[in-house]
Amino acid sequence: MNWEAVIGVEVHLRLKTEHKLFCRDRAVFGAAPNTHICPVCIGLPGALPVLNAHAVELALQTALAFGCRINLDSTWARKSYFYPDLPKGYQITQFEKPIATDGRVIFSSSEDKGLVGIRRVHIEEDAGKLLHDKALGASAIDFNRAGTALVEIVTEPDLRTPEDVRSFLGELKQTVEYIGASDCNMEEGNLRVDANVSVRPVGSLELGNKTEIKNVNSFSGIEKALSLEIRRQLSLMKEGGLVNQKTLLWDDHRSELREMRSKEESNDYRYFPEPDLHPLVLSQGQVTAALDSLPELPRDRRYRFKKTYELKDYDADVLTQTATTADYFEDLVGINVDPKVAAKWVTGPLQALMNQHREDAQSIPVRPEIMGELIRLVERGVVSESAAKTVMVILAEDGGSPSDIIEARGLAQERDLGQLTDWVTEVLAKYPEEVSRYRDGELKILGYLVGQVMNSSGGAADPKIVRNLLIDYLNDS
Ligand SMILES: [Zn+2]
Repeated sequence: MNWEAVIGVEVHLRLKTEHKLFCRDRAVFGAAPNTHICPVCIGLPGALPVLNAHAVELALQTALAFGCRINLDSTWARKSYFYPDLPKGYQITQFEKPIATDGRVIFSSSEDKGLVGIRRVHIEEDAGKLLHDKALGASAIDFNRAGTALVEIVTEPDLRTPEDVRSFLGELKQTVEYIGASDCNMEEGNLRVDANVSVRPVGSLELGNKTEIKNVNSFSGIEKALSLEIRRQLSLMKEGGLVNQKTLLWDDHRSELREMRSKEESNDYRYFPEPDLHPLVLSQGQVTAALDSLPELPRDRRYRFKKTYELKDYDADVLTQTATTADYFEDLVGINVDPKVAAKWVTGPLQALMNQHREDAQSIPVRPEIMGELIRLVERGVVSESAAKTVMVILAEDGGSPSDIIEARGLAQERDLGQLTDWVTEVLAKYPEEVSRYRDGELKILGYLVGQVMNSSGGAADPKIVRNLLIDYLNDS
């Protein structure tokens, strides 16, 4: 019998708002504990929440980017549970009527296109953060995070493999980054993933008992956790056993799942309408404005790059990884750099430089106009590709103009025939064995000889001219 997994995912994203969801405290990461708190977010009696309009806008854009149906009337609810990081004893969320439902995410799976339905998108506030010090045997609470704005995206159980879950999350993250609704920084907990998983015989329409995996904040973590859990459920089912519904916590350090202690579990949230807030009412005009404000989304941009610039899939994928890289590429094309040449420089040397300097395409000091100048110097043969990479490093550190740097550092490509001929004859004299092997028909040894001439010239020789000179000499005598 063939089996398949049925997976649904819940993603929490921290919205990129300056302030928290219901008060004027700044939403910050890494500040001294409990320095961004007020009566509202630590739940003092009588403090009243006031909704942050920017959070609603960002949630709306997120929902629209995934093609959701927007509910013009949505409501707030209290989700009650007791936990030390939840000062009010309840979380304000959306339950019966969320802001949006019925969306979809299209992602590339290993075989072709995958499609995941989005059941709902809702806005809610985050809890504080507990910090445990095992050595001291003590715990402390930081409420800076309490009340910050989240959006939760709940999918239909449409996913079948851990790899697809990862691809789906990649597409989701990229889209949210494009619209700027969240920075999705996983180390800071700005994108957190829970997953429900069950297994069933292929072809069956019934759903098996599912388990819930919580607490995952890396893509590799969710993939590993799901693979382990699917394997565990499969071996249980194949032995005729039953999967018990339970909640599992992912331990990233040990790469293992452990069962949540029962007191950590709480399925009775006693939801009821939040009496301190009006229902959230949106106008059709607000929805239209949010839709109009959406930028071109990653999958559309990828498609356009392939069509318009005739790029390979790989190049289009890498170039559209972030909106800023895609913009950089299009800026180069805009100043008449050939798209394929621009793609090569952006995905290769520029990407390497950005990684090295921990900068993105927006902040890297080598701006497109300067990069365009340098590319033109390479095309005109003034500087070799490898020397141009050295120029890029200098540009990133000290700024300046490519031609000045080439001049000042003596990086210009040597094209003087007299000088090149000297290097070529020197190398031919030094490698008589290779010369006779070439003349005996081993033509590929030419590359080796070109390399030797390049070495003798300290990388300055124009490789095309060297190559032609070598061929002339080798075929001559
Ligand atoms: Zn506050």
